[in-house]
Amino acid sequence: MTAQSVETAVETTPSLWTAAHDVDARRPRSLQRQLGASDTVCERRAAYIVAGTAPSDETDKRAAILGTYIHEGLLGAARTEYGWLVERAVADDTIKGHIDAVQLDEATAARVPARHRPKIAAAGVVTVEDVKTKSTFLWDKVRRYGPTAAELRQVYLYADLLRTVGFEDVRGQRYLAKLGPLEVARIRFRFVNRDNGEEHIQEFDFDPMEATRARWWVQRVRELNSPEEGRRDFDGPGLDAICDHCPFMTACWGLPNPPGTPVQTVLIHDDADRIQTLADYVRGHELETEGKRIKNLARKKIDTSPAGVYGANELGWGGGNSKWDVDVEAMVDLHEDAKIPVPMVPDEKRMVENLKAAGLAVPEKRSAQNTPKAISVRPYKA
Ligand code: SF4
Repeated sequence: MTAQSVETAVETTPSLWTAAHDVDARRPRSLQRQLGASDTVCERRAAYIVAGTAPSDETDKRAAILGTYIHEGLLGAARTEYGWLVERAVADDTIKGHIDAVQLDEATAARVPARHRPKIAAAGVVTVEDVKTKSTFLWDKVRRYGPTAAELRQVYLYADLLRTVGFEDVRGQRYLAKLGPLEVARIRFRFVNRDNGEEHIQEFDFDPMEATRARWWVQRVRELNSPEEGRRDFDGPGLDAICDHCPFMTACWGLPNPPGTPVQTVLIHDDADRIQTLADYVRGHELETEGKRIKNLARKKIDTSPAGVYGANELGWGGGNSKWDVDVEAMVDLHEDAKIPVPMVPDEKRMVENLKAAGLAVPEKRSAQNTPKAISVRPYKA
């Protein structure tokens, strides 16, 4: 086989992602039209789902699909090895979902048919567990701040469904539905780093106020007259990854008008909006300047401190290794030895310097590109 035919064969081999996206599109979760607890990330997005709006955008789901595979693998292992109750359905008239894992207390576990009882000792209290896979990029944030507001809302909705209705009465879990509502007492988040497998667990008592807040959130979405009344909880494409991957992005923000401009311009309607936005711009600039000042001073102060744990933070040092630059002289010698012509590309920087040193004007011609649009915001005195 020639190199060219190998290349052609590689080009015509279908991507596995085509198959993975097709399988994902057939999952019950993808076909579900009722609001799921995991859809409660953004008020407007949830409103589009409740209204039955057709998605306006094809999104790249590769990271989410990988997360689903890891999720299924880990929960499947927990079911086989520990007899955990995993991926169990909960629902009422307003919302539905699948709880990643439920740990039963001893008394409740005793009411489950013996063959379905967990193989490991029951938890002291009924615990709802949510498993989240995260990239290394977000890992520090996860360890420092734990679940996001949307993740908390999701797990509280699951827990509240279990507390008010119990397990859904569907095939495969009727024996669980017979238990009725359960007294959920603990919430557990299990974060798994999808790049290196690291695990981080955060656990706390069930808070009825948080559950009520999550229910209100859903209620408000259901009371909206149209999705457009829903609040955009994120800053839009190009600023927030949630929007970049949202299936309702165009429905939500529209197309750039005029083309090439940010869609966020749709948020400006009149001069009052402009006044507020410029005030935001100035405030953001001040916060940025002050943040930079604090960070720069801290960096200089800590420069000679040894690595170690100091309160809530761990200090580590990297770098300081030799840097390697391309040896141009040696390359010229090698070219000459191998009889390869040395490229003679004009050195623009050097030529400009030469002309300036000789007191000659540097010739210029109009480029095909324009300079980037620059903003100038100054205090105004009437
Ligand atoms: S594009 Fe962003 S703000 Fe709009 S519905 Fe989607 S997630 Fe919400």
